[in-house]
Amino acid sequence: MSTSYLIKNVSVLGGTPTDLLLEDGVIREAADRPDAEVIDATGLIALPGLVDLHTHLREPGREDAETVETGTHAAAMGGFTAVHAMANTEPVADTAGVVEQVWRLGREAGYCDVFPVGAVTVGLQGERLAELGAMADSAARVRVFSDDGKCVSDAVLMRRALEYVKAFDGVVAQHAQEPRLTEGAQMNEGELSGRLGLAGWPAVAEEAIIARDLLLAEHVGSRLHVCHVSTAGSVELIRWAKAKAEKDGHWEVTAEACPHHLLLTDELAATYDPIYKVNPPLRTAADAQALRAGLADGTIDIVATDHAPHPHEDKDCEWAAAAFGMLGLETALSVVQQTMVDTGLLDWAGLAERMSYAPARIGRVSDQHGRPVAIGEPANMVLYDPGATRTIDPSESASLSRNTPYRGMELPGRVVATFLRGRATVLDGKLQ
Ligand SMILES: [Zn+2]
Repeated sequence: MSTSYLIKNVSVLGGTPTDLLLEDGVIREAADRPDAEVIDATGLIALPGLVDLHTHLREPGREDAETVETGTHAAAMGGFTAVHAMANTEPVADTAGVVEQVWRLGREAGYCDVFPVGAVTVGLQGERLAELGAMADSAARVRVFSDDGKCVSDAVLMRRALEYVKAFDGVVAQHAQEPRLTEGAQMNEGELSGRLGLAGWPAVAEEAIIARDLLLAEHVGSRLHVCHVSTAGSVELIRWAKAKAEKDGHWEVTAEACPHHLLLTDELAATYDPIYKVNPPLRTAADAQALRAGLADGTIDIVATDHAPHPHEDKDCEWAAAAFGMLGLETALSVVQQTMVDTGLLDWAGLAERMSYAPARIGRVSDQHGRPVAIGEPANMVLYDPGATRTIDPSESASLSRNTPYRGMELPGRVVATFLRGRATVLDGKLQ
């Protein structure tokens, strides 16, 4: 028996307050239902359920860092109703069997739809293509393929992958990192890395791969998605390619930026606190500005979290020994509000496009997700209080891990409720 919710005085994407009924998994015209739970949403805005194209759920294999269940708890707390789970698990998600296992675990947990990403190469080894077709045909219906964590650095393999995914309208999501240019790299290469004595990670290591992949995608007429863009130069390359692809019409490039690259900079490495160690690294303030501008003008299509949980023993150690990565699901909406909405770069509709509609389109899941908050649509929805502020306390995280770079920071906004097909996964800010 499902509960129905009558939501009063809610502002859809910042518009005039209205009432909505969530019933049988669908958004309906408000009507009196004596058995409906009434939610007073005065001051709250309704956003479509967020969709993350880039999440690490760690299961199978690293259940000490995160499980599908805990990761989707964190997702729901952050306003997400769908996440794409990256393939660098143990074993790697490079067969129909593993992707179906992850997909099923997501269904069983019931907090968020989990769409597995399939590996491009067997074992992420970069040597031969994984069973892309079998994963696409599996119950998990994989459409996004990535060796994320590693770059598909072999140009021939990258070309073959781009060709292969055309058969089922898939996309190759590249972690752009030229391996030889980043051997031992620890932080953004610049004056600061020299001063801190940490091996530098040059912008060109990202930009060289992006440039190559753009040309390959054009050459074979396929779909390329660029993961976690971090430099101003990358934004320029993608801007050039998008204009060309639009004119050509037979290929497509999309790109994502992560909340931490919008808000944080490499100056934080001066603390030598590995909480700020991430791949790609935090870049300069000028890079962050370029990412914000690119996200505002649509060059960067989406925000993706790159939620990367690590247990404390992998992060509470010296910088060079620490794992790369930071949590992101529970703070993404607040960071994007602060960097993009409160600065006037995006309105709420623009945020919905970049955190819900576009990621669902790129991942080919827009039959259910990334749809407008409107009558007759699936009730995947967030109630958000943009006027609230909160101080981030890692101990309150729904994730199994605690590696948030925002600990102790005050961020705007609070997710009050999240609905997945009309079921409240979060209510009054609490996991249900
Ligand atoms: Zn990556």
